[in-house]
Amino acid sequence: MASKIPEAATSTLDRLIEQAAARAVSIRHRIHARPEIAYEEFETASVIRSELVRLGIAPITDVPNAPTATLAVIGDVSKPCVALRADIDALPIREQTHLPYASTIEGRMHACGHDGHTAGLLATAAVLKEIASELPVCVKLIFQPAEEGGAGAERLVRAGILDATDRFGPDVRSIYGLHGWPGLPAHVISTRPGPMLAATDTFAITIVGRGTHGAYPHCGRDPIIAAAELVMSLQVIVARELDPTEPGVVTVGKLHAGTAVNVIPDEAHLEGTIRTLTRESRKNLRDAVARRAEAVARAHGCEAKITLRDGYPSTINDPAATAFVEGIARDVFGPAMCIPAARPSMGGEDFAYYLERVPGCFFMVGVRPEGQTDYPPLHSDRYDFNDAVLPTCVRMFIEIARRGGA
Ligand SMILES: [Zn+2]
Ligand SMILES: [Zn+2]
Repeated sequence: MASKIPEAATSTLDRLIEQAAARAVSIRHRIHARPEIAYEEFETASVIRSELVRLGIAPITDVPNAPTATLAVIGDVSKPCVALRADIDALPIREQTHLPYASTIEGRMHACGHDGHTAGLLATAAVLKEIASELPVCVKLIFQPAEEGGAGAERLVRAGILDATDRFGPDVRSIYGLHGWPGLPAHVISTRPGPMLAATDTFAITIVGRGTHGAYPHCGRDPIIAAAELVMSLQVIVARELDPTEPGVVTVGKLHAGTAVNVIPDEAHLEGTIRTLTRESRKNLRDAVARRAEAVARAHGCEAKITLRDGYPSTINDPAATAFVEGIARDVFGPAMCIPAARPSMGGEDFAYYLERVPGCFFMVGVRPEGQTDYPPLHSDRYDFNDAVLPTCVRMFIEIARRGGA
């Protein structure tokens, strides 16, 4: 639904975006100083809600099982509805940025830049409110809790926020979300059609043997030997059981056993993550982890107790919505500012749950300032969202709405 934008309108819009983004900087710093983790974002939600009220937009609250979620609908609800989403939660990390607006809550930090996403979507709300009558769509704003491991998106989808209800407004036709990306130069937009981020399943395995004296191993069943062999066996899954052209990761991130140098313990514990991009490889890798755990444990006269937990599904972008987003980026910022992501990332993102229900696109916005080679990565205790890209985030969201979604 791309249309030609008159120049005069664009310069007025530029001013609106500039003003809104300037205010978003102070809002971001406020949120940054008071970081709250999954489902505890009450203070953050109150900042979001009071800003919406200030803008004359009614916040929609009381989402079942997600009291810190906030929605808002802007524009004519008889028109098709496009959703824009920001995640609002922080991480259990002790901040080391020493910024004037650094976290004042011990052990909590906006180390993934969700403070920037939230402030950017509030600025978007401010601009949308001004141009609501000109929009070809109505826009549902989603301020979502608990992206970091809490599957907030899944709760919101289950609560029916994408569906037409009296409470949550019209049904969502397509959805868009962004993430600040330190690996890309500031203002660069990057995305790809199809798999963009990985499924994030986890496993926990207890190998049950029989403890004994370390000097008499033949009197017991050593779970540590089985665990050690299993760690190596799990690495063979990707090497031998997955199509070599298909991405996949099996990582053992925890390995615990034993209490004394001369004692063979009863049990050993392993935990890890399985990252895949397709439904098929997701099933195959999960099955292979369980099969190898059982077989290796049995080979050592031990038993394996296996728990496989569902993580987020793979984040799969709709091709048309992705082409639409890339088209906006090229059109508004120039072809050089849109760099298609050649490969997916094996990180995960709960935006996947929305994309399982409606078509849409998740895209990266570069945040690394020019010439700065040591910009901290996401989840670093030194990471800080780059305020300079707020206008870029707002502009992308505004154009998505102005051009009516894919
Ligand atoms: Zn994160
Ligand atoms: Zn994040």
